Amino acid sequence: ERKDVDEDYFGAYSSFGIHREMLSDKVRTDTYRDALLNNPSLLKEAVVIDVGCGTGILSLFAAQAGASKVVAVDASAKMASVATQIAKDNNVKVITVVHSMVEDIERNLQLEPRSVDVLVSEWMGYCLLYESMLSSVLFARDRYLKPGGAILPDTATIFAAGFGKGGTSMPFWENVYGFNMSCVGKELVQDAARVPIVDTIEPQDIITESAVVHSFDLVTMTQGDMDFTSTIELHLRPSHTGTHISWCHGLVLWFDTGFTDRFCKENPTNLSTSPFGPKTHWSQTILTFREPIAMCSENSKSVISAAAVSKEIGTEECPVSMVRIRVSIARASHRSIGISLE
Ligand code: SAH
Repeated sequence: ERKDVDEDYFGAYSSFGIHREMLSDKVRTDTYRDALLNNPSLLKEAVVIDVGCGTGILSLFAAQAGASKVVAVDASAKMASVATQIAKDNNVKVITVVHSMVEDIERNLQLEPRSVDVLVSEWMGYCLLYESMLSSVLFARDRYLKPGGAILPDTATIFAAGFGKGGTSMPFWENVYGFNMSCVGKELVQDAARVPIVDTIEPQDIITESAVVHSFDLVTMTQGDMDFTSTIELHLRPSHTGTHISWCHGLVLWFDTGFTDRFCKENPTNLSTSPFGPKTHWSQTILTFREPIAMCSENSKSVISAAAVSKEIGTEECPVSMVRIRVSIARASHRSIGISLE
């Protein structure tokens, strides 16, 4: 069964549309280019492995930056042949393309163990870990990277924040040419509570401060670290601490990856998929609550009258000034993750 999954996965990657989407994502591709080209002391004369090379774009940047040898590996036969052609057409001689799962490359005798100075890979999936190639990258790190060698990026962090009604499809359905179609919106919200959705959230719809869900150090982490549970506390943003109730309709998740000064000594950089930054093809990942949570600042609790609260919330319960959430991410099955809230 695993073989079938892999065939689908690598088959999908040979469709050029996905590669065009990734290459067109300027936030993504420029950050990798900056990391590779603006840190000459790291790349000059280096031996580089590009895990999952696709078109070979990262290998081409590494070659441009002065690498002496770049081994570009891709499990998709189509992409390996395309990357070979592209390197040839651009007269780049230091790149060797290997068609293989990175896990099997030794069989093809292209690389000695622990012989690589720099490992570069763009392995991130939605919400960082969905369909993630991270385990393949860690495998390649342990097998091929020299002791003390560089891994780009070298950190990854998952963030979360609470969003208001504007982050749901409710406002659209509540007023359709003046008619109330909110029954549709309610159904969609219930569906959205079952599965995470990949979509963008506008900054003004975020009502809480952001919190770090989990940080990874790519140098030291192990395969087991990809499964974790983390408890986060979400506090209202200052713009939402007035004397009114703010409804938290769900959780938005995103990630950053760092090319820190540990390896990128001259010019460290950061790739962010935050809703507060420019959009990327990863968008954000949205988890809707079945029922929204009423929030207000600690200070305004006494100002908001019990009557107003019961009218709006329908119970005597007070709004909360902080929401505590448990987020678990597990590789529930091959290449997938599960997220649960408590
Ligand atoms: N580096 C390219 C492509 C990234 S997409 C770029 O930045 O544009 C990820 C690529 O990794 C896909 O082409 C996919 O076929 C390949 N890949 C995924 N898992 C792999 C593995 N275990 N071994 C080798 N290649 C892999």
